[in-house]
Amino acid sequence: MLPKNQKEPRGHVPPTPSKAGASFHVLIAAAGASTRFGTSAPKPYVNLAGMSILRRSILAFLDLPGLQSLRVVYNPAHEALYHEAVRGLSLPAPIAGGKTRQESIYKGLLSFSDIPDEDKILVHDAARPLVQTADLAQILTALQAHDSVCLAAPVVDSLSHANGTRVSRDGLYALQTPQGFGLNALLRAHQHIHKHAPAGPDFSDDTSLFQAATGIAPHFVVSSSANFKITTQQDLIMAQRLLQPPLQTRVGTGFDVHAFDTGGDHVVLGGVRIPHTRALKGHSDADVALHALTDAILGALGEGDIGVHFPPSDAAYKGMDSAHFLAFAHQRVTTRGAMINNVDLTLICENPKIGPHALAMKRRIADILHITPDQIGIKATTTEGLGFTGRGEGIAAQAVVSLSCPCP
Ligand code: MG
Repeated sequence: MLPKNQKEPRGHVPPTPSKAGASFHVLIAAAGASTRFGTSAPKPYVNLAGMSILRRSILAFLDLPGLQSLRVVYNPAHEALYHEAVRGLSLPAPIAGGKTRQESIYKGLLSFSDIPDEDKILVHDAARPLVQTADLAQILTALQAHDSVCLAAPVVDSLSHANGTRVSRDGLYALQTPQGFGLNALLRAHQHIHKHAPAGPDFSDDTSLFQAATGIAPHFVVSSSANFKITTQQDLIMAQRLLQPPLQTRVGTGFDVHAFDTGGDHVVLGGVRIPHTRALKGHSDADVALHALTDAILGALGEGDIGVHFPPSDAAYKGMDSAHFLAFAHQRVTTRGAMINNVDLTLICENPKIGPHALAMKRRIADILHITPDQIGIKATTTEGLGFTGRGEGIAAQAVVSLSCPCP
């Protein structure tokens, strides 16, 4: 709730580029108790697409031209988590927060010293890690003409009190962070409130406190919709989706043939040993199914074929379990940040019968590729007595695979 003397919002700044070189500092609030979040780790230290929420918030500012310093107000009970979150970043020591957000920001402001009067400060909540560079540029530009600037979202939902009394949404803004001020001016405003209203009200944002102390209403910059506050697990999932790289579907095919030997007592197909009156000839275990599948995966990745990576001339692969080749292809998928959507395999032969072994093949391939059996199709066909497979001279296999790959 804003103090009663707060004026209506005054519109927003049109998009104009920031003037590079304006000196500013950043204070990030990360000292809250995160009681609404429901994870074992405190919210600033929860992983968001590969790094903590706090680190992501810090990185949003670090490359901005004109940045003089960035400080974090934290909870000293989270000391180890904090240091892990800022590992490798060159930051001044964090400041221990207070009992309320207002007190934490005040303590943070007191840690800056010898600041020229023209230097600005952006105060930001760690829980908004997706703040956009374009929004920051607009705030910094607006600060050249205004004493108090607030990133804000026009209210678009209809509003009502719990008792059913409607409230007009016209001219209403939801206040966000960052909020920008002259650093010394904001410090003086906090000192004023600390001295004259130590018992409250407690201000949940700094433009409200600044207005209570100075009478100056904020200038609003309309935020990007990505600048939502991560408050619930659902918010975290939404943020993760926004950070996912765009994916493209890629398809690969593979085909392989191995001839029957004159003797033997089994073949290996799809990673499964199947009793048979003749073995298949080959440098490795001659698993024609896994060879076709390996080629399909390498083909989808555009990374050559099995013979390029495992030359038949290399004695090291003699008698090799073909699961090794397929595991290599899976490793390439993982390295490329890709995922297997599904694979479809067709074995072409008169004998042995494939059907009784199809489930075992699915399970073995699923195990090697770290997918589930329902992502795998195993089919078999004959060629009606025609051709080399029809004459029982060998077995052919063809494979199709679909991958989801990050766009280049
Ligand atoms: Mg082969």
